Amino acid sequence: MSSARVALVELKSQHQRLKTEIMAAIESVFAESHFILGEAVDHFEREFAEYLGVAYALGTGNGTEALHLAVRACGLGPGDEVLVPAHTFVSTALAVAYVGAVPRLVDVEARSGNMDPAKLSAAITPRTRAVIPVHLYGQAADMDEIMAIARKHSLWVIEDACQAHGAYSHGRRVGTLGDVAAFSFYPAKNLGACGDGGAVVTNNPELHQRLTRLHNYGQPKKYHHDIIGYNSRLDTLQAAILRVKLPYLDGWNEQRRRLAMLYTNSLRAPQVTPPSDPGDRRHVYHLYVIRTGDRDALRADLQAHGIETGIHYPVPLHLQPCFEALNYRRGDFPESERLAAEILSLPLYPELDPDHVRYVCRTIHEFFKC
Ligand SMILES: *Cc1c(COP(=O)(O)O)cnc(C)c1O
Repeated sequence: MSSARVALVELKSQHQRLKTEIMAAIESVFAESHFILGEAVDHFEREFAEYLGVAYALGTGNGTEALHLAVRACGLGPGDEVLVPAHTFVSTALAVAYVGAVPRLVDVEARSGNMDPAKLSAAITPRTRAVIPVHLYGQAADMDEIMAIARKHSLWVIEDACQAHGAYSHGRRVGTLGDVAAFSFYPAKNLGACGDGGAVVTNNPELHQRLTRLHNYGQPKKYHHDIIGYNSRLDTLQAAILRVKLPYLDGWNEQRRRLAMLYTNSLRAPQVTPPSDPGDRRHVYHLYVIRTGDRDALRADLQAHGIETGIHYPVPLHLQPCFEALNYRRGDFPESERLAAEILSLPLYPELDPDHVRYVCRTIHEFFKC
């Protein structure tokens, strides 16, 4: 066991198991050869909307584009401020920058790594028009509080659900809680395509209509363009593959939760804080992220034992050179900075061998001599 190699994420097992079904789906797309906005896209959009319990889903080229289209569809642009957590993947803020609006950063809760509602209110100015809560690592943000604040100040709520396919908040799926939500089907996400893909979902028919136009050259009718649109559509082949995978999503999320529980129940080093998992939300563990003050040394030790880990993410948005113009400084978002220094993502994917989870925990205990 000491020579085991444990990958952070491994996609081969899932595809090996689904190979026959996926190949048949690809064959059927080839039989039609309707590669752009083919039948599988319509079907997947309907099935994904039904899975979430939302009125409309629209396939997009990727998750970043799903966020970008959502920001555009809400009519945001130059002069507008949009609240974004300081601790997230860069795309959450890129989408705001793309339309010329300003991302205003908000610090996160130490416990969950999600946007801190208490700090959200303080960041609102007369120019604030929207907020983008991220359901980081697969756990719903505190949507009750965030929605209450947003409604009070008439802000659009755009959920970044790119890591949380199938997660719940008080019995409702994330992606159905705000005005509009973005999903990514990047291969390693809980629901992943075999390439890039994304979706933007909403219950608002006007937003859906605008999104539909925006994602396909701004055309209500072929070769008639009434707004500056984009080419950002979900590929038909990817839609066909996603249709095969969607019925497995809840089972895979259950597997992720089971493995996460095994980690949390096995880890007993006082130097390690496991992720929080409050009962009113169903965390779907896109990532299993621990905190420890001795992160870099632990990471090197795990690497030496054949265990791959990740850091999601090592640099908070206010310290990224691309957002220099926002004029933030080190110290502005202390919880985000502390997280960036202390977080470590342990191996997790549905097919991960529970013995490997035990091996990772044992290696951590040996490192801390406990
Ligand atoms: C993956 C991800 C995105 C972007 O999705 P892509 O499909 O890679 O463009 C956006 N936000 C978060 C939080 C993500 O994890």
